[in-house]
Amino acid sequence: MSSNGHQWVYAFRDGDESMRNLLGGKGAGSAEMTTAGMPVPPGFTITTEACLAYFESNESFPEGLQSQIDAALIDIESQTGKNFGSSDNPLLVSVRSGARVSMPGMMDTVLNLGLNTQTMAGLTELTGDERFSKDAYRRFVQGFGSIVLGIDSRAFEAVIEAHKETVQKTEDPELTAEDWETVTAQFKDIIRRESGEVFPDDPREQLARAVQAVFKSWNGKRAIDYRNFHRLPHDWGTACNVQTMVFGNMGERSGTGVAFTRDPNDGNPVLYGEYLLNAQGEDVVAGVRTPQPISTLQNAMPSVYKEFQAYAEKLESHYTEMQDLEFTIEDGKLFMLQTRAGKRSPAAAIRIAVDLVNEGKITKETAVQRVEATQVDAMLHPRIDGTAKISPIAQGLNASPGAASGTVAFTADTAATRAENGDAVILVRPETSPDDFHGMAASQAILTSRGGATSHAAIVARQLGLPAVVGCENLLIDVSAGTFRVDGLEVSDGDVLTVDGSTGNVMLGEVPLIPGEVTPELEQLLEWADDIRRLETWANADTPVEAELARSYGAQGIGLCRTEHMFREGNRLPIVQDMILAETEEERRKSLTRLLPIQRDDFYGILKAMHDLPVVIRLLDPPLHEFLAGVENELADLEARDANAEDLALAQRKVTRANELHEANPMLGLRGCRLGLIYPEIYEMQVRAIIEAALQLKAEGVRARPEIMIPLVSHIAELKTVESGLRETAAAVQRDAGDEIEFKFGTMMEVPRACLTAGEISATAEFLSFGTNDLTQTTFGISRDDAEGRFLLRYVEDGILPENPFQVLDRAGVGALMEIAARAGRTARNDIEIGICGEHGGDPSSIEFCESIGLDYVSASPYRLPVSRIAAAHARLEQGFRDR
Ligand code: PEP
Ligand code: MG
Repeated sequence: MSSNGHQWVYAFRDGDESMRNLLGGKGAGSAEMTTAGMPVPPGFTITTEACLAYFESNESFPEGLQSQIDAALIDIESQTGKNFGSSDNPLLVSVRSGARVSMPGMMDTVLNLGLNTQTMAGLTELTGDERFSKDAYRRFVQGFGSIVLGIDSRAFEAVIEAHKETVQKTEDPELTAEDWETVTAQFKDIIRRESGEVFPDDPREQLARAVQAVFKSWNGKRAIDYRNFHRLPHDWGTACNVQTMVFGNMGERSGTGVAFTRDPNDGNPVLYGEYLLNAQGEDVVAGVRTPQPISTLQNAMPSVYKEFQAYAEKLESHYTEMQDLEFTIEDGKLFMLQTRAGKRSPAAAIRIAVDLVNEGKITKETAVQRVEATQVDAMLHPRIDGTAKISPIAQGLNASPGAASGTVAFTADTAATRAENGDAVILVRPETSPDDFHGMAASQAILTSRGGATSHAAIVARQLGLPAVVGCENLLIDVSAGTFRVDGLEVSDGDVLTVDGSTGNVMLGEVPLIPGEVTPELEQLLEWADDIRRLETWANADTPVEAELARSYGAQGIGLCRTEHMFREGNRLPIVQDMILAETEEERRKSLTRLLPIQRDDFYGILKAMHDLPVVIRLLDPPLHEFLAGVENELADLEARDANAEDLALAQRKVTRANELHEANPMLGLRGCRLGLIYPEIYEMQVRAIIEAALQLKAEGVRARPEIMIPLVSHIAELKTVESGLRETAAAVQRDAGDEIEFKFGTMMEVPRACLTAGEISATAEFLSFGTNDLTQTTFGISRDDAEGRFLLRYVEDGILPENPFQVLDRAGVGALMEIAARAGRTARNDIEIGICGEHGGDPSSIEFCESIGLDYVSASPYRLPVSRIAAAHARLEQGFRDR
């Protein structure tokens, strides 16, 4: 089919799965089904390369494309015996986009292309059904008008509704051939008015325009939003599939449907889907009419069902993956229109991956690779507490599991704006469309009044891991008034709602939720991930309870125990404040002596909970004035209450001291090891408490493995001075106890200078831990506390930064410093232990980077552990590919 040497067009029978990048997912799937001998209506695919070439040549077809399309049409004509543009047995085609990975609903399908008044007459003659062909033409004009010419589809819907009113009919099937003719004429008027052009009659022109529209839709706002959200490249382009039309709306022996080879909600291995008899194309997916469950097709058309089931099994085995299938039945004959990997809920993704391993179809590595870290994350999301009493105000289809509460928003824009202000939002729509994507992604849950399990809302919610209830038909939504009514109850914009996507229940107000869980399938998958990953997964935990939780989630150590929290709890703050107010070292030591047993208990609890595993304890880090926050109010309160002179004097001293300690840039001020240098007795007390706790545990037969971490070092001299003093303390405590314990001294890498001199530092430090929260602040020179709420998100929105560097590690800057430090550290001390304990330690992309520079562990919140475990396995598998 190549005319100038470059092949832009491939017949379905000439393609295969290996050409997915060129043919897109739909094209490759149609090719595979065709070559497997399944009944696929003949068609061809215009390549993604053609789409890119179209953009490169200023939105015109590259040389050779038009002639290859013409040749491909002749090929279809000879396969079908139909003729494109002829009134005698006319060939009609559908035109669909199809990128490399499926983007549900991103680009719409134009159906019945090739119709005009002459070919329509031919269709009438062929089918003997004038109403059918006039309806077909109406659908084409409507689809072409909205998708290709960009006219708001609501204008067309309004015409249909108005006409129904005029002729006093309520349902589309009641409309006659004449009705459709009138409606179509009005559509054409709208098109002429809105676009300034006459509706094109020439089928070749129609096709060229539709192909261009498919190409352009790659750069439409909704497609770009989707790719941005999923971090997909913008330079793939989309393929375009042109395929012979088959008609699901030729009566009750015809129909159309979609089905998954396994249940996309929970992964149950049963055929799951829906169909509509006497319906065409997108009727099922659009969710406008409520379809029948696929299992009932077994009774309606047993042989078709059997044939379809056999194809479903064959395709799933062929792809060793759950498939999402589209089919049409034309007058009793089954046609397969599409096969692709099915979108699924996180729970289903995990169940299916584990089942496919158990069925011997895929390896454990493939299973781990197929489950995304975000899906594991979604599993850990809340659900409704089983003991809570609930009274649902409505019930719909449980389309995507999980539960959430939030305030009702009726438009995607409102939802997005409110979410930006930190509100939890429930997006309530009659149905959703790709234009709503940004609002859906920003919401906690989705609720629609129309549509089925394969409607846009359901698919997108599952993919985002958001709870969704769809097809809640009792809701009467009035978007413009900002209300919905259900059984006499009115709910307005801003009211609080709880949506349970696992049961389909909708409740007014908040309902108690409990956190997500690690199901047996997830545990199984995580165990496989554990066998694959090299990186250890540790957790940040400050209390024994958190440490136990971390252990139960599979923590292999504590990567960061922040001790400042221990200084604030309960009755400790007054002692800490006394210590800060002390004028002499002796006075300070007195307060510290009171803190010592309390701290020892803290460490005892954590070290015990983490017995046999390493626990990195960071010595006090924040500036001291943080412990005097709010003392002005305290003084004002006492003054207002005429408190006694002694209390007033103490409060006054605190205020004076707080003022003395005030710093213009506290994050760059007297904190971290600088504090340990100026007030060595604080760190001494902490080290004494750690060693004493470990000694006590040892005496009880428990192996404690403390690792003492000195924060915010920038110069080796700081570390050396602090560390040598503390080693003496540790030695003295052990000498006094007449026993020894195992422990390490190390430091954090939070300042560029420390990273650049990590070789020197590692001669003293036995371990390094990247504090990437501070390291990101100090590398960018951006104050996290000030920037995130203000300019940083703008930066990301405007594309100045690809993402928030406090969430996703900046590899080129912060990462480069880490790489330098890790290499120098290992050269200086080959058994040095290196990890990360900043927020990035729980972010999949950052974990991948940590794998690539050979860190020993990543540490993040205990709740992130399942995510870290799977992400570390993904990183290892990726690295394995790279090393090969
Ligand atoms: C860090 O800076 O990355 C870190 C873990 O310390 P903190 O967040 O407590 O400053
Ligand atoms: Mg820090």
